[in-house]
Amino acid sequence: MTQPASLPLQHQIALVTGASSGIGYGVAEALAAAGATVVINYNREAEPAEKLAQAIRDKGGEALAVQADVSQEADVQRMFKAVIEKYGTLHILVSNSGIQQDAAFLDMTVEQWHKVIGVNLTGQFLCMREAAREFVRRGPQPDISRATGKIICMSSVHEVIPWAGHVNYAASKGGLMLLMKSVAQELAPKGIRVNSIGPGAIATPINLEARDTPQEEKDLLKLIPYGRIGEPADIGKVAVWLASDESDYVTGHTLFADGGMLLYPGFVGNG
Ligand code: NAD
Repeated sequence: MTQPASLPLQHQIALVTGASSGIGYGVAEALAAAGATVVINYNREAEPAEKLAQAIRDKGGEALAVQADVSQEADVQRMFKAVIEKYGTLHILVSNSGIQQDAAFLDMTVEQWHKVIGVNLTGQFLCMREAAREFVRRGPQPDISRATGKIICMSSVHEVIPWAGHVNYAASKGGLMLLMKSVAQELAPKGIRVNSIGPGAIATPINLEARDTPQEEKDLLKLIPYGRIGEPADIGKVAVWLASDESDYVTGHTLFADGGMLLYPGFVGNG
């Protein structure tokens, strides 16, 4: 069955973690608009997650909000069980939840270190593993998608750009790069595609403090050759493509959506 171009994710079940705000929210909206049934994970913010689920249903789609702390194995397993009980299986995981707890390296506490690694890296491991287990259990469904399952990790330009004052975050995203690639290598023979999205600066609550004065916004724009801060919808479109059969031969890659941040604009004019 070839899916209509406007609904490339029809008949597919997608789980988006951390979808009560920011990029995850935008990704959940985009996947729903592409025809997927969307499970909206949240940790603490039930209200926006439930409202988003309702908004998707109001537009004729299907959605469910499920609470889970992605850094906790029991929570993640309970969430996947709820998804499979309700919808029978899962086709797409967008493992998006992430946090920052910034501190100068000399002042960073081990709690700040563990907290960020727990959500941004262990959380990715736990969600990817449960998704892969379900894809393998269910097996191929070629009428629905060429791949047996698709995993998309939300990484960052900081999987390659070092970030002083944020070493826990940069370490989590650098670690995620080889987690994603190693899982992609291991699961490709099972028909499972694993990729990451590496956003640059996207306007969401996570970076509000870094762009809430005109001067801060101007400084941030100096890092973005394309001249604008990104929006969650920019990432939603990339997620739809990576989840669809349009990208069927793509696995083990990070697709950077960053307005050119990785072009190192500081070197224009010879640095
Ligand atoms: P955000 O703060 O709006 O979203 C983070 C989401 O993760 C929230 O919905 C939050 O509830 C959820 N979350 C936090 N801890 C959780 C936990 N323990 N269990 C489940 N969910 C949890 O910020 P965002 O910018 O939308 O971030 C989303 C992802 O994008 C993160 O992985 C972040 O590192 C990445 N990212 C963001 C940017 C950017 O500029 N905004 C750039 C690069 C990467």
